[in-house]
Amino acid sequence: MELQLSSAKNRGRIALNNSMQMIHFVNVLLKDIFEMGREYPWEKPDRCPCCGNWKIWGHGYVSAFFHGFSSAIWLKRYRCPACGCVIRMRPASHFTRFQSSRHTIRSDLLYRINTGRWPKDSGKSRQRHWLKNLKRQMMAWLDWKADLIQAFDLLLNQGRTPVTSAI
Ligand SMILES: [Zn+2]
Repeated sequence: MELQLSSAKNRGRIALNNSMQMIHFVNVLLKDIFEMGREYPWEKPDRCPCCGNWKIWGHGYVSAFFHGFSSAIWLKRYRCPACGCVIRMRPASHFTRFQSSRHTIRSDLLYRINTGRWPKDSGKSRQRHWLKNLKRQMMAWLDWKADLIQAFDLLLNQGRTPVTSAI
């Protein structure tokens, strides 16, 4: 099971406060960012993902919480001076707005499906949401009844977040 997506599928585009925001997924270790804080050497995107401009500038940090870390982690932002697009760096190991990693979510679901019980690592209400949302996503996007883990992988390959409530 390959959890990395291609870079094209790996981008999310959201509009916030009338300015364009791009989420740029990067292969990073959260642990390194957590330990180094703002000293972490982020790799700047080559060009603006909105307009292709070759020059982008640092645009501060936003804090985000992740499961397994005691305090917030600083994620870097860039801004394109040509089009105003703000580019937010996100770890590719995590879905946007999810504190648990993709790997944890998938393995928890697999454990539940195989044993009928949830593993104790992530919190039951969170885990139940994942399962409920996965069933919703499967109904919405796959027109055949897939095995739930197969559905998770298929949705992921379609570039979707298999456990989000948003359809
Ligand atoms: Zn731009």
